[in-house]
Amino acid sequence: MSQRMQQGQPMIVMSEESQRVKDRDAQDYNIQAARAVADAVRSTLGPKGMDKMLVDSMGDVTITNDGVTILKEMDIDNPTAEMIVEVAETQEDEAGDGTTTAVAIAGELLKNAEDLLDQDIHPTAIIKGFHLASQQAREEIDDISEDVDADDEDLLRKVAETSMTGKGAELDKEHLANIIVEAIRSVTVEGQVDMEYLNIETQTGQSASNSELLKGAVIDKDPVHDNMPKSAKEANILLLNEAVEIEETDVDTEVNVTDPSQLQQFLDQEEKQLKQKVQQIIDSGADVVFCQKGIDDLAQHYLAKEGILAVRRVKKADVRFLREILGANIVSDLDDFGPEDLGFGNVERDEEDELFYVKGAENAHGVTLLLRGSTDHVVDELERGVTDALDVVAQTVSDGRVVAGGGAIEVEVADRLRNFADGVEGREQLAVEAFADSLELVPRVLAENAGLDSIDTLVDLRAAHESGEKRAGLNVFSGDVEDTFEAGIVEPAHSKEQALTSATEAANLVLKIDDIIAAGDLSTDKGDDEGGAPGGMGGMGGMGGMGGAM
Ligand code: ADP
Ligand code: MG
Repeated sequence: MSQRMQQGQPMIVMSEESQRVKDRDAQDYNIQAARAVADAVRSTLGPKGMDKMLVDSMGDVTITNDGVTILKEMDIDNPTAEMIVEVAETQEDEAGDGTTTAVAIAGELLKNAEDLLDQDIHPTAIIKGFHLASQQAREEIDDISEDVDADDEDLLRKVAETSMTGKGAELDKEHLANIIVEAIRSVTVEGQVDMEYLNIETQTGQSASNSELLKGAVIDKDPVHDNMPKSAKEANILLLNEAVEIEETDVDTEVNVTDPSQLQQFLDQEEKQLKQKVQQIIDSGADVVFCQKGIDDLAQHYLAKEGILAVRRVKKADVRFLREILGANIVSDLDDFGPEDLGFGNVERDEEDELFYVKGAENAHGVTLLLRGSTDHVVDELERGVTDALDVVAQTVSDGRVVAGGGAIEVEVADRLRNFADGVEGREQLAVEAFADSLELVPRVLAENAGLDSIDTLVDLRAAHESGEKRAGLNVFSGDVEDTFEAGIVEPAHSKEQALTSATEAANLVLKIDDIIAAGDLSTDKGDDEGGAPGGMGGMGGMGGMGGAM
């Protein structure tokens, strides 16, 4: 029964399909995978960055310039590459903008780490050096950053415009920046920005310049019945999360009908039930009902007869937003509610766009940005750009610190890190210097994407910073190195700090790995059996389709 283990033969603990890659091979494999992801988004960085067209497996097309959107839509099939995608997601969650920057820096850190590994510097020293540099860099950003007054609308508009430059929102960025700043200011109470009170609604058909900021909510629905009023002034409004339909019992009930009158009785019973529900709505004094669920035809008829405006299948998010602005409760049981649960406001109909505008009481806040664009693709990309801009303006209002963009902050921090490196002992010093070099990727790529000479630009930038011009950056429109802060290229400091933090964490995570043990092939896509040897990057198969377009 027992087979003796032979001397000198390795004990096999892994199944035959599993793969194992160690040491430098493992590092190389991971670094290549991570860099492939970073390279994929680099060409979109900055105002002159290009867009990408992503076609998913269903044939749906997304055209975008937004780093995190690109990475999410790409069918990435590699565990390391997925860690880099997480950098973008963290950046999106924490800062709302700067996703391309974060991913590009992570890729550059790994590229420079590879050079150090080639010089036989141990990964531990690189990791430690990167960590030190990242901490120092954050302190430097804080030191360089300038404080803004939350009331400085002019500056907030610049922050919004900087974020939208080069995006779908670009053409109308002045108008959009205006309404974005107004939107954030109207949901700010004592320095606290509450995004719960801000809703975005999109409409196709008109140009982006017709986008507007509206007080209250916009509900993109029709009344359920033609004979209902289309609007209601000073109305009592019921938010309902219960169907106004005949309740279907969970258990299958069997009704035995022995003569026709019994059937009629049964139907009468159902009608009575429905009537009762409508009566409960009438009794509460509601003039308008926004229902998250369905409303039966017969109930619609009764409601119309009573002059009640009813809208059904309203989006959950919209009902919640209405709750905020109307000061209502969402009623989920018609047997158990009262007039105190109703909200109060005005409902107006826009016949052209087929929308309802719902406004709360005079002092209620809550605004809706109604974004317009000619087609779905345009509106979607507009929405992504505007969402980023809303986030950075909100961040600037609550955090209060901004820095000069166009690579200015990166070059200044790099300069300071090189001085800092002089005081760092041992091989970590080289890693700190490599970190500083990695930051300069930002102005290099900004220049490259604008068709400018990236080496000349970097030389000019370094010279300017060495002579004390802290805000010298590249303005890609003039092509000159200038005070970008003055030129209105301004970004929140927090977003820059976050980009460095997440890029460093991801790079260090990748560098720490010296052994990859995979049960099966190194693909994360279980349905795909393309597989392949790790050395041959078989696991990157999922990205292959995109490769040519990058
Ligand atoms: P991310 O996803 O990182 O936000 P973007 O494509 O939005 O990437 O580009 C952001 C970068 O573009 C920032 O470094 C910002 O400073 C820079 N930028 C914005 N406007 C200009 C400009 N007019 N000239 C040069 N750089 C600019
Ligand atoms: Mg951006």
